[in-house]
Amino acid sequence: MLVSLSEMLGRAKAEGYGIPAISAANEMTLRACIEAAEKAESPVIILTGYYQTDAVNYYTRIIEDFARMASVPVMAMWDHSSNFKESIRGIRAGFSSIMVDRSSLPYEENAAQVKEMVRIAHAVDIGVEAELGHVGTGMNYAVDGFSALTVPDEAVRFIKETGADCLAVAIGTAHGVYKGEPKLRFDLLQELAEKVPVPLVLHGGSGTGDENISKACRMGITKVNVANELMRACYDALQADGMEGNNIYKFWPVMEKGYKAKCAHLFEVCGCAGKAWQARQCLTAKSQAAFKKEA
Ligand SMILES: [Zn+2]
Repeated sequence: MLVSLSEMLGRAKAEGYGIPAISAANEMTLRACIEAAEKAESPVIILTGYYQTDAVNYYTRIIEDFARMASVPVMAMWDHSSNFKESIRGIRAGFSSIMVDRSSLPYEENAAQVKEMVRIAHAVDIGVEAELGHVGTGMNYAVDGFSALTVPDEAVRFIKETGADCLAVAIGTAHGVYKGEPKLRFDLLQELAEKVPVPLVLHGGSGTGDENISKACRMGITKVNVANELMRACYDALQADGMEGNNIYKFWPVMEKGYKAKCAHLFEVCGCAGKAWQARQCLTAKSQAAFKKEA
């Protein structure tokens, strides 16, 4: 079932676990991660964005079909839309949630742009993730890792001002491969979890380490974005199986096997394996409101 952001992350927050947001950019990876989620009886979040062409308008129809057939709750998010046009593309394509990432802008400008997009997105029942502080790149970790950490009191103000449904926070993770050892600021996460009223999101899940991810999820992170590690798992599986000669015919199945194994691992690490619930198809304001009332 395709569920809303508020249902998906609201449950995770209430029950104290995280859900991996899995980068799936095509039919094969989409099907593989949903099958892996069904096997693990886990809710799953599909992430796509930035590298998508206009074909994304068709891709969302495929997501909806697969989600409708799935026995577990599925949420789909248009990731990292960084300007007005990109955010609107995600809404037009039919995602049930979008990330409105203006985290490289100063606070006031970030808040103003997120507030504007929240108003638009909520008018058509789409959930919004924003980011405060800035999660940079792992290759520049020595600087990016700690230069723009999320300030708790600012985060409280930001949510009040913008109405965003969940918040990506900078607590020492980074996107892509890390140059150096990731060091998470759990003290900061604890303060954020206590003060910020909406579910918290961790970007840069790849290479952060199972123990760090598990701990962060137990402490209030509800969504963990992963891309790099999944692609690496596909590549490693191909290398391990060997693609010499006619073995190349196994190219797609082996890739899928590597991807699924990584998905299964992530469900365990985040603590959402076995947490799937009987979801209702939840795309309308009415059903979202009903969930909020129950919660
Ligand atoms: Zn990200």
